[in-house]
Amino acid sequence: MKLEFEKILELAKKYEPDISKFLRDMIAIPSESCQEEQVILRIKEEMEKVGFDKVEIDPMGNILGYIGHGQHIIALDAHIDTVGVGNPENWQYDPYQGYEDDEIIIGRGASDQEGGMASMVYAGKIIKELGLEDNYTLVMVGSVQEEDCDGLCWQYIIQEDKLKPEFVVSTEPTDGKIYRGQRGRMEIKVMTTGVSCHGSAPERGDNAIYKMGPILSDLKALHENLMEHDFLGKGSLAVSEIFHTSPSRCAVADSCWISIDRRLTAGETGQHAIQQIKNLPSVKAAKAEVSMYTYERPAYTGLVYPTECYFPTWLIENEHPVCHTLVEAYQGLFKQEPQVDKWTFSTNGVAIMGRFGIPCIGFGPGHEDQAHAPNERTWKQELVDCAAMYAAIPLIYTQKYADKMTKETKNLV
Ligand SMILES: [Zn+2]
Repeated sequence: MKLEFEKILELAKKYEPDISKFLRDMIAIPSESCQEEQVILRIKEEMEKVGFDKVEIDPMGNILGYIGHGQHIIALDAHIDTVGVGNPENWQYDPYQGYEDDEIIIGRGASDQEGGMASMVYAGKIIKELGLEDNYTLVMVGSVQEEDCDGLCWQYIIQEDKLKPEFVVSTEPTDGKIYRGQRGRMEIKVMTTGVSCHGSAPERGDNAIYKMGPILSDLKALHENLMEHDFLGKGSLAVSEIFHTSPSRCAVADSCWISIDRRLTAGETGQHAIQQIKNLPSVKAAKAEVSMYTYERPAYTGLVYPTECYFPTWLIENEHPVCHTLVEAYQGLFKQEPQVDKWTFSTNGVAIMGRFGIPCIGFGPGHEDQAHAPNERTWKQELVDCAAMYAAIPLIYTQKYADKMTKETKNLV
């Protein structure tokens, strides 16, 4: 079977109005994390309309659409939940009604990342129409709860749905580049405890808030000294929240706790990051408790799948067959060299490759700086280009790279 890149591009261009319409329909359905049911049903309708071989919704509420029946399992992933709209005053357009002209589409989820799903579904249609099927089964996944707890959906898909793809393409926005990694992250809690007493005689008590003071200074200094990796960049640490308990405004506080957003670069494991904080002199002096948060919010289906808030770093090598597959698809379609880079934010790759070692790679419509911003937008040309890429990737893989896959993929972290 020969890949005719021109035909793929032609067809992708032809479907631009359908891709746009489908994306605007998804945008119009509010779908914050744990409330994705209606958008999932809309995606199901479109997958069935364009001729997917099978469409399933799993007990967590993720949608899995299948193309083909072959031996090599390849997955494309788009999380289809979005964040909220923030302050509506900052939007020039209604975030759900959005806006569209010849070049752009505006609305919540345009770049992050319902656009990826729109391109994926039409890639399915292109594969069917041009007969690009081969010895592969392509699974198009619309995953839930990513904005709340990245990767949880894929923990479920791998461990409970028992889907084990040979590799996964994340369709989060990549600014037209191919992305092969990201820093990991974790959500850490540091807590001090004390003894309350009447605020008129503070010496009778033990103030938990005062104990947090030196800890905050040490954490600020720790951030400055975190290690750097030449590709993924520097680890970081930010105190994001502070809470306390106290019997009254006229009392000494008896507990205080903070939340930390810790980004992990290559060379930093979760255990290492926790130990670093435990080792701080102020933490030791205050006998503060350092722990990781857990996530157990129910999915829209009611399913609860608890996990620790640890999202491991991942980085796939440049010379990996999966990286070559995407580079070759890009060269074939666009007649130029792609840029290979990394995400600043976090994606479902933290579970796919970070936890389970399944090769992961990114190529998606839209731009990272649009994510979570007011007047979020995406570009029609990128939606078309991505549909063409997703249609070409599986066949290039089965024909040239599937037999070059090693048993295990090294996570370069
Ligand atoms: Zn996203």
